[in-house]
Amino acid sequence: MGRIAVFGTQEINRDGHLYIGGIDTNDLAGEFGTPLYVYDTALIKDKINQFKKAFDKHEGLNWQIAYASKAFSTLAMIQLVNEQGLSLDVVSGGELFTALKAGMDPERIHFHGNNKSESELAMALDARIGAVIVDNRDELELLERMCTERDQQIAILLRVTPGIEAHTHEFIMTGQDDSKFGFNLANGTAQQAVKQALQAAHLQLIGIHAHIGSQIFETNGFTGAIRVMLKHVNQWTRELGFALNVLNVGGGFGIRYTEKDRPLPITSYIDAIVETAEEECARYRLPMPALWIEPGRSIVGEAGTSLYTVGAAKTIPGIRNYLSIDGGMADNIRPSLYQAEYQAICANRALEPKTNKVAIAGKCCESGDILIKELMLPETCSSGDLLAVFSTGAYGYSMASHYNRIANPAVVFVENGEATLVVRRESYEDLIRCDVPLKNLSPNI
Ligand SMILES: *Cc1c(COP(=O)(O)O)cnc(C)c1O
Repeated sequence: MGRIAVFGTQEINRDGHLYIGGIDTNDLAGEFGTPLYVYDTALIKDKINQFKKAFDKHEGLNWQIAYASKAFSTLAMIQLVNEQGLSLDVVSGGELFTALKAGMDPERIHFHGNNKSESELAMALDARIGAVIVDNRDELELLERMCTERDQQIAILLRVTPGIEAHTHEFIMTGQDDSKFGFNLANGTAQQAVKQALQAAHLQLIGIHAHIGSQIFETNGFTGAIRVMLKHVNQWTRELGFALNVLNVGGGFGIRYTEKDRPLPITSYIDAIVETAEEECARYRLPMPALWIEPGRSIVGEAGTSLYTVGAAKTIPGIRNYLSIDGGMADNIRPSLYQAEYQAICANRALEPKTNKVAIAGKCCESGDILIKELMLPETCSSGDLLAVFSTGAYGYSMASHYNRIANPAVVFVENGEATLVVRRESYEDLIRCDVPLKNLSPNI
């Protein structure tokens, strides 16, 4: 049909319409309404395969990819992840519940978080999940006590802070760690935890974990963390008889939001991680552990596109043109929360010259609800047109709120010309479903 490829399965047709998964986004908006989250599931599977291939290249290596479900957790997404054979990270009872409901193999579920409650841990133990990533001493003691009472064994990893913090374009080593997560390596807290875990009869300490940041575009944060971790592991092996079976280096692999973002190929991250771990293990004569990673954003981020209908336009001469859309910070908090930047196009006028500089404003009662500060759009893009915002697949739906009592949008998966509704749009009734009125409601509506 002579469409122009954009990204993943995104294409621009000759009529200027954006297609995803072989479907016209204008038809998707017509059928499912806007705002709408559209996921290109072929691209999700492609990303998963890139990670798998990158590991497969390293023969004899034992590895696991755990999708960090906080990036985007729904029954359908977990089913897809389970089907692809990935493991899964959960950070709360709610994420664990979703995973179990979706039929995720409990063996492949890993439970994270810095303040897991007793009832959340009980849920994890009842389900016999694969591993708990223990964050602090209180949790270590609570878990051992619970497992003793139940006479149940559980595999654990200890989360450590290697004193390395990765930022978007650099990483820094901090002398004094200041993090709410994990056991500090530098001040001996981690060593103490290892000692304690080794003595806990019901806990099998299989490894250590670090997650150094997110949207990382370099490998040196990962390799630096591995060097620091294995240096300590060497000491614990000699002094405490610790055996490292699993080295978990977390997630944080960067993605492309705008053309300013230049993520490395997935193989570059994995090669650097594997090679550094092998080098350091050889240096200390340690057996090579299994390598686990936890990508979230890099699995789903680029696969998601948000569709909005353009509404009111306002021009402040000499200052700014505003175009308002029917969504905003309620369905995508990232611009207001961390000045995140996005790229977007007019999905029904994608081939018209982009001559109008606009700000894309959300509909919430916050001046900060600006989805995109500066975007070039066709002069003609106006009320009733369709706006497609790219790379909204991670931390969009999962961070959505009901601010201004805005109902959460629907989510559709698209592939090979087929659209599947995986989350229905919330209704007004959904919005008040947990409300308990003070008196009998008069039937106004
Ligand atoms: C958030 C998080 C991840 C995933 O991070 P991404 O940037 O989405 O890849 C992985 N592991 C842990 C422990 C996390 O908190």
